[in-house]
Amino acid sequence: MALLQIQEPGGKPARPKHRLAVGIDLGTTNSLVSARCGLKVESLPDETGECLLPSIVHYADGGQVYVGKRAKAMALVDPANTIVSAKRMLGKSLSELRTLDHYMPYEFDATRDDTAPSIMTRAGSKDPISVSAEILKVLKARAEETLNGRLEGAVITVPAYFNDAQRQQTKDAAEEAGLNVLRLLNEPTAAAVAYGLDTADQGNIVVFDLGGGTFDVSVLSLTRGVFEVLATGGDTNLGGDDFDRLFAEWLKHQAGADGLSEGEIMQCANEIKHRLSEEEAVEFTLASQAMTVTREQFAALTSEPLERAMRICRRSLRDAKLTNEEIDNIVLVGGSTRMPAVRVAVAEFFGREPLTSIDPDKVVAVGAGIQADVLIGNKSENDFLLLDVTPLSLGIETMGELVEKIIPRNTTIPVSRAQEFTTFKDGQTAMALHVMQGERESVADCRSLARFTLRGIPAMVAGAAKIRVTFQVDADGLLSVSAEETLTGAKAEIQVKPSYGLEADTIKSMLQESQEHAREDMELRSLREAKVDAIQLIDAIAGAVVADPELLEEGEEARINEAVAKLIAVLDEGSSAQLTKLTQSLNEVSGDFAARRMDAHIGRALQGERIDGV
Ligand code: AMP
Repeated sequence: MALLQIQEPGGKPARPKHRLAVGIDLGTTNSLVSARCGLKVESLPDETGECLLPSIVHYADGGQVYVGKRAKAMALVDPANTIVSAKRMLGKSLSELRTLDHYMPYEFDATRDDTAPSIMTRAGSKDPISVSAEILKVLKARAEETLNGRLEGAVITVPAYFNDAQRQQTKDAAEEAGLNVLRLLNEPTAAAVAYGLDTADQGNIVVFDLGGGTFDVSVLSLTRGVFEVLATGGDTNLGGDDFDRLFAEWLKHQAGADGLSEGEIMQCANEIKHRLSEEEAVEFTLASQAMTVTREQFAALTSEPLERAMRICRRSLRDAKLTNEEIDNIVLVGGSTRMPAVRVAVAEFFGREPLTSIDPDKVVAVGAGIQADVLIGNKSENDFLLLDVTPLSLGIETMGELVEKIIPRNTTIPVSRAQEFTTFKDGQTAMALHVMQGERESVADCRSLARFTLRGIPAMVAGAAKIRVTFQVDADGLLSVSAEETLTGAKAEIQVKPSYGLEADTIKSMLQESQEHAREDMELRSLREAKVDAIQLIDAIAGAVVADPELLEEGEEARINEAVAKLIAVLDEGSSAQLTKLTQSLNEVSGDFAARRMDAHIGRALQGERIDGV
């Protein structure tokens, strides 16, 4: 928390300097930057008055890099050196990219690992991070020029379904562009923030995002400033283009437009579609024929993609376990939500009007801009700090293939938690750490996030070393785990970037499974713990018998061996109660021997031997 400031006696309060921070919507097709300009947060236009920057990068002959409209013009002429939709490639391996159904006319760099795809261009090998960085650099320069100063921070939006790898690469791109990333913000959350929905105490919000080629729907729930993504759904092949295509087919049929190219008809369809968002009917000429089309006709011709979107919407609500009536607000995002038919369908479905007062192309960037302004510290008393939570618990694997949770699910981030662990075996000098995510007790039922090893632990008896493991989740949801041996300071750490996506559906099913298996998991934990205790005692006694055979009394070794054999017999099949009982018996039978060893070692310690070897 920031320290409270106290004014000098008699001095005038200094007017706080307005610090420059922007919100950036790094989109698949277009990107935008927005910032506070006076009282409002607005999207910043380029010198031609255009806010949307096509997310396209062209590596030109003379070494120049073109971004935006100029690059777009090169997409058909020189596709190999013009990168479109870099966002779709972020955080993906080459094999994953090959399974995408989007055409990618690129030559991938064969010297790169499958996990780090990169495109061969005339300017060298370019990975999706550096392509995205080029787009961000242009937006940064635009903002610094418009705002007349250096940017101190940026909030960048990402789709709600982005996994950690995709988020990390977005962050890397921003850093490469010289931006200080204040936070990555989910796109639907940003849209809700733009409408000020976060200031309510609670509510359920649907963000309906229909762009040119993709459809995304997110169901959010807000409780005391914390947004939670309850469900996401969508279709990467559903958008305005489908409306254009269906309408173009009709036009072709009506006008018998033989003399026109496919491109010309598509363009005509797109223009009429846009005009029909403003006018009830449009008159136009195609292939020298005068024609009229009404809004109603257009809606009837293009009903299929809209019905598909509404079905996805219904499914997402079901996933979120909410009914239409439980939704308090619907936010429209994406150019295609300007179509009156879309607004009507949404209003009918939810039984209330969607929020439309902010330009649907800019609403995400505006929300990000508002958030950036708050995070950089330009906030007034009634402003807020947007909170986020960990969707699943984070923990570490312990003996018995069990998971010890360190940060429970639903903890507000950023957060840092530490816990001490110790060694299992005498003389153990290294510790394998396995970072886990999930609610279940067994390693096999949770997600593995990362593994690393702490070395350099001084050799001690089992249980004597102290290893402090710290979990830290930053404001962007990225996890750092460190392990430190407290005596020597030996340390190892890892940043977790899991390569597999954690979809909202996965979270939901993981939570559901943990509830269904709660009892069974508890039993499994107590069984495995009992087994770990048994093995540890058996190992310790075996070591002690070898180390101090002279301290055993007549017949004692046989009695101990008998108890050990009984315990070993139930080790694999026994119940937790049996294991606990027989471990206890072994403890009793060997108790005197252990006490004699302790006395002997203390005696020797007084004469100079180290006691930690016992
Ligand atoms: P976006 O990807 O959000 O930029 O959305 C672009 C899509 O929105 C394209 O399919 C456009 O044709 C469509 N679009 C933009 N403005 C309008 C409008 N006024 N009426 C209908 N569709 C529009």
